[in-house]
Amino acid sequence: MRAVVYAGPERVEVRSVPDPRIEAPEDALVRVTLSAICGTDLHAWHGLDGIPAGTPLGHEFVGEVVAVGTAVQHLAPGDRVVGSDFAACGHCWWCRRGDHWECPQRCMFGMGSVFGPPLGGAQAELLRVPFAQTTLQRLPAGCSDEAAIFAGDTLASGVAAAERGGVVPGDVVAVIGGGAVGQMASLACQSYGAAAVVVTDLIPARRQLIAANGGVPSAPEGARQLVDELTDGRGADVVVEAVGGSGPLETAFDLVRRRGRVVSVGAHFAAHWAMPVARAFADELSLCFAIGDSIRLGPRILPLLTVGAIDPTGVISERVSLDGVPDAYRRLAEHTSVKILIDP
Ligand SMILES: [Zn+2]
Ligand SMILES: [Zn+2]
Repeated sequence: MRAVVYAGPERVEVRSVPDPRIEAPEDALVRVTLSAICGTDLHAWHGLDGIPAGTPLGHEFVGEVVAVGTAVQHLAPGDRVVGSDFAACGHCWWCRRGDHWECPQRCMFGMGSVFGPPLGGAQAELLRVPFAQTTLQRLPAGCSDEAAIFAGDTLASGVAAAERGGVVPGDVVAVIGGGAVGQMASLACQSYGAAAVVVTDLIPARRQLIAANGGVPSAPEGARQLVDELTDGRGADVVVEAVGGSGPLETAFDLVRRRGRVVSVGAHFAAHWAMPVARAFADELSLCFAIGDSIRLGPRILPLLTVGAIDPTGVISERVSLDGVPDAYRRLAEHTSVKILIDP
């Protein structure tokens, strides 16, 4: 089969690789019908410890089950499924609590050994899925591939941000970053009843997209004033940091009100960050980090997608074939695209 692999700093290639096959009783084999490139893939593209050359890439996918292991009872060949971006066992103490990301057997698709043992990538024609009954969710009739693929990662991150931030009707929310995850956080917070979701981004085209998706766009430098106008000068009830790194976290603290909540769903790879701890104490701020658990959240997200209560498809910038993927990574890195789908 053909698959996208990491080939060195800022380089991916499409290569012929051996077909994956069922290796364990709980596996399924999925024919990928739609895949995507994610901001997280860009971290791999730039080069990351745990991603040697030759690592298969991609963790967002929708597909059709083509084979199942002997222990898989609730899925069958022909089923349309969306995958979580990571696999988890479904049996352990963490999984039974619904905290699948903490599963000792967790491994993420297409991320080398960054988040667990290496697993195949979804930017490919076929994918082996461990613990298939947990990792895959059958698509409801009427749920399009284009909407469903967001349930596997980015929209799960957006919903996780709304949940961890405790967004309730009437809240004024600020979101740092209008990339795919920031846009999904905006949609999720709107569906949780936020009175307004201010989304900040440097790029004018992204700000247009923010407005088209119901958010209140702002350039970063104007965000505090805009939030103040909406909150009588208090600051945002909840701030979602959806970029990653220390700068956006600083910005989040600049926008949050006293006793407010900062939720970071951006990816962080630096070991340390100097937290503004005196203010956090004096103003009784809350800070938490969230990773979208698409296994736990999927059963609630898929109905929202199926009836159109959340429509994430407005952020799709383009669709490419596998051969178009190497150039597409570059466009995503240059911020000329927000979400790129792949027809394998
Ligand atoms: Zn992703
Ligand atoms: Zn587990």
